Amino acid sequence: MPVDSKQPYDDQNIFARILRGELPAKTVMESQHSLAFHDISPLAPIHVLVIPKGHYVCWDDFSASASDAEIADFTRTIGQVAAAVGADQQGYRILSNTGKRSGQEVPHLHVHVFGGQPLGPMLAK
Ligand code: 5GP
Repeated sequence: MPVDSKQPYDDQNIFARILRGELPAKTVMESQHSLAFHDISPLAPIHVLVIPKGHYVCWDDFSASASDAEIADFTRTIGQVAAAVGADQQGYRILSNTGKRSGQEVPHLHVHVFGGQPLGPMLAK
């Protein structure tokens, strides 16, 4: 079911369970407020997910409610992940689906980092 950006946080979502160590993930990097791990079904040679450790459903929620420290940490971690996986050398794309019409499926904020190949047009028409 697509995520509704106004829904309350569900602490049984897959990424909450990864954060608690209940499900495995291939970690790329961890910081004080963020975790980065490889997507289970990569759509490009590089496909990493970066999530805040705090309980935020989506970008709306995070941008309105997260602390400055969490926002700074998350933003810097995304850049560091791109460098760590070599995506910064060739160019990469970051994307965060937010809410019902975007296709967001997991109700915990995540930014996708795509790279490793030419990424084509921004959206299919
Ligand atoms: P969304 O469609 O919500 O923007 O993206 C959710 C992403 O989470 C998808 O790319 C999907 O492949 C990924 N995903 C779903 N379940 C898991 C999981 O258990 N582990 C990992 N690493 N990725 C997952």
